[in-house]
Amino acid sequence: MAYSSATQKRLLEMLEGQFNQFHTELDCRAVISNDTTLEPLSLPTHGMGVEQLCMHFNDQVAPKLSASNGGRYWGFVTGGANPTATLADWFVTVFNQNVSKGGDSVASQLERQTIDWLRTLFYLPDSFTGLFTTGATAANLLGALTARQFIGAQQGVDVAQQGMAGLDVMICAASPHASMIKSLGMAGFGQQNWQCVDTLQGTEAMCIDSLATHLSRCDSRGKIVIASAATVTGTDYDDLIAISRLCEAHGAWLHVDAAFGIFERLMNGPEHKTNGIEFADSITLDCHKWLNVPYDCGVFLTRQPNHLVATCHVDAPYLASSAQNQDYMSMGIENSRRFRALPVWATLLSYGRQGITAHIQSNVDLAQALASWLENSQYYVLLKPCELNVVLFKPGNMHVLQEVGLCLDAINQSGKVFMTPGVWQGEHIIRAAFSNWETTTEDLLCVIELLDSLAK
Ligand SMILES: *Cc1c(COP(=O)(O)O)cnc(C)c1O
Repeated sequence: MAYSSATQKRLLEMLEGQFNQFHTELDCRAVISNDTTLEPLSLPTHGMGVEQLCMHFNDQVAPKLSASNGGRYWGFVTGGANPTATLADWFVTVFNQNVSKGGDSVASQLERQTIDWLRTLFYLPDSFTGLFTTGATAANLLGALTARQFIGAQQGVDVAQQGMAGLDVMICAASPHASMIKSLGMAGFGQQNWQCVDTLQGTEAMCIDSLATHLSRCDSRGKIVIASAATVTGTDYDDLIAISRLCEAHGAWLHVDAAFGIFERLMNGPEHKTNGIEFADSITLDCHKWLNVPYDCGVFLTRQPNHLVATCHVDAPYLASSAQNQDYMSMGIENSRRFRALPVWATLLSYGRQGITAHIQSNVDLAQALASWLENSQYYVLLKPCELNVVLFKPGNMHVLQEVGLCLDAINQSGKVFMTPGVWQGEHIIRAAFSNWETTTEDLLCVIELLDSLAK
């Protein structure tokens, strides 16, 4: 099917129909789909064409998708897609650029400008450079790979060229995200091959004395410290000033996973919970969470891009290189890269610092309102004061569904909201995370009513 003007018109009509229907239903559709089966269907020899396909999709697939793009999906930390970013993401597909090398378009420059703006938004110094990744997991993987290259350089080994056999390294972390552990495995360190630093009593934050002990007892020549800002359950922040000082003294690489926690800077400035992040060697951020751009969009930043480029450099003489600037294909995992900077660029321009800060503040206010309702309820137990956007709770003695798993199932089966399980201080709990730009007070009241009725 060619892009004749009739085709273009039909595609836009179908998009408009889908878009309107989705947004009309979003508020009342079940937040998660209870039917996740897909009818068996064999690969057609003769394709059905786009009209038929659209009907098939609407019949078989769309009704079984979740309302994760709406205001009451409180699982994990899941942002939605704000209107500007949605439009920009359509543009990404219309233009379908490959942002791998500069020289054929302005797309690489736009990615650089967007990284600059994110640095400004988060009060980070110019010494950080970076790129967009598919998500925070890919950014954490780049963190592990760049640290590995750095450790190699300290020991006279170019890991990218010679491999990592014989690399002498110790890794310290306290409450690393699951994706960080996966990244340590993918980077060849091993998922289990890290020292578990103690946490401060009643939190997931790293105990500095324990880290100091690990570092000074360690006789490995290379050291990597992985810090969190914030952790995904407790939203606890490591003391990055103290940690960066220890890293400096021990010649350790410091990677900070700040996927969603960095957004706290918008409310409280750079000298509050994330103070000291500017001394990190590398940082992970996520835009498809709290910036509310569509998947897939993470960010990796580093103050030592030479080690990143040594890791990711591709020698591809058949591709013309233009630049004084480093080509993105030599800074990241993929060669061919989506123009994923565009929805972020558009969001930053369209909402500005103020608009984005207002989204964040609103999510935090709603989370705290839920926490205080739970705290005052005779049916629920709030497990930790809510300091950011995540609320941890469980049913109490008076609740008819005292068992956490049963209570969570009942909450999710209602179709009114989606929450996820977690473990807090060794105990199974329920987690509600607020990160969608569209969540309103009405959403909160609807969930409070549900929680109240389930308890009785
Ligand atoms: C979500 C998250 C990740 C993983 O991010 P993806 O975008 O899902 O790959 C890593 N670290 C933290 C702290 C997170 O919250």
